[in-house]
Amino acid sequence: MKNIYDYSLEQLTEYFALIKQKPFRAKQVFSWLYQKDAQSFEDMSDLSKDLRNQLNEEFTLDVLKIKEKQVSRDGTIKYLFELLDGSLIESVLMIHDYGRSLCVTSQVGCNMKCTFCASGLLNKQRNLTAGEIVAQIIKVQEDVGQRISHVVVMGTGEPFDNYDNVMDFVRIINHPHGLAIGARHITISTCGLIDGINKYSEEGIQTNLAISLHAPNDEIRNELMPINKVYPMDDLREAVSNYISKTNRRVTFEYILLKDINDDIIYARQLAHYLRGLNAYVNLIPYNSVDEHGYQPSSKEQAEIFKSELLRLHINVTMRKEHGRDIDGACGQLRAKRNGVK
Ligand code: SAH
Repeated sequence: MKNIYDYSLEQLTEYFALIKQKPFRAKQVFSWLYQKDAQSFEDMSDLSKDLRNQLNEEFTLDVLKIKEKQVSRDGTIKYLFELLDGSLIESVLMIHDYGRSLCVTSQVGCNMKCTFCASGLLNKQRNLTAGEIVAQIIKVQEDVGQRISHVVVMGTGEPFDNYDNVMDFVRIINHPHGLAIGARHITISTCGLIDGINKYSEEGIQTNLAISLHAPNDEIRNELMPINKVYPMDDLREAVSNYISKTNRRVTFEYILLKDINDDIIYARQLAHYLRGLNAYVNLIPYNSVDEHGYQPSSKEQAEIFKSELLRLHINVTMRKEHGRDIDGACGQLRAKRNGVK
C-alpha cells in the first residue's frame, strides 16, 4: 500500500494523468486530505464511487496509530505512534501564545550519538518518508481537533541525514493547497551537517534553520557531539555564515545548559566571540535529564548568569520555556522507555 501523504500535488497530478483522470482530481484529493480533514477515501464525496474504490485499493491514509499519549499539566501532549512496519516514533505538541507547534520526528532512531540525548540510545533503523512525517501533523490535528500552526523538525533523528524526504515533507505542508503552513513557521534543526546546510542555502524557501551547538569550543563539542570531529566549529560557522548571506534569514543557535560542562561564564564569552558578526540568536535550553547519561541541568542562577553575560556582550538570547517536564519531555525519552532501553 502506498502512503497517500508521500505525494506532492505534482506527483498526484501525474498519477491521475496515468490512470486517465482529469488532472484537477489531484487538487480535489489534496483539498480533502489537507483542508477538509478526510479520514478515508470514502469521505471524498465529490469523487466517483469507482475512483474512490480505486484509490482505496492503491493508497492508504492510515499510516500511523496512536500507541500512547501523555498529557502534561502545561498542555503539552506527547504522542507515541506506531508506523505500518511496527516502528515507534514520537511527536510533541506544544501550546504557545502564538499557536500550536508540533515537534516531528524525521528518522526511526538516530546515528549522531550526542552524549546527552535519549534518541541515540537506539541506532537509526531507517529514514521516515515524507508522508510519514506529514502524517504526524495530520494525526495530531485529528486528535485535538485543531490546526497546527508551527512545525519544528526537532524530534528524533537528524533531518539533514534524511535530506530529500524532509524537504519533500516541507514542500507538502507549505503548499497552498496542502496544509499551507507558512515557511516562516517551519524550522529545521540540525546538529551541523555542513553538506545539508549548503544545500538548504540553495532551496529558495523562507523556512528557518536552527543549529544545535551546545558548546563554546571544539574541545567541549567533541565530547558532547561526535559529529563535531567531522564538521568542526569553524567550518560550521562558515557554512552558517554563507547560509545567512544567501538567504538573509536569521539563524537560531540552540545551547543546552549542562551543569559544570558548558555553563561557566567564560564559555558565555567564548560563545559570544564565536557568534560575533552572525545574524543569529541563542536559544538557551534547560536540560531534560536522561538517566543513562549522568548530565545535570544547570541551576536557575547559573543559567541567568550565562544569559546575562551574553546579553552584556550584545548577543540576542532567549531562554526556552520548559514544556512537558513531567511527561518524558526530551527527545526519544518515551520511545526509549517503550522499547525497553530504559
Ligand atoms: N538532530 C537534530 C534534531 C533533533 S534534536 C539536531 O541535532 O538539532 C532536537 C534538539 O533537542 C537538539 O537541539 C538537541 O540537542 C536537543 N536535545 C536532545 N536531548 C535533549 C535533552 N535531554 N534535553 C534538552 N534538549 C535536548
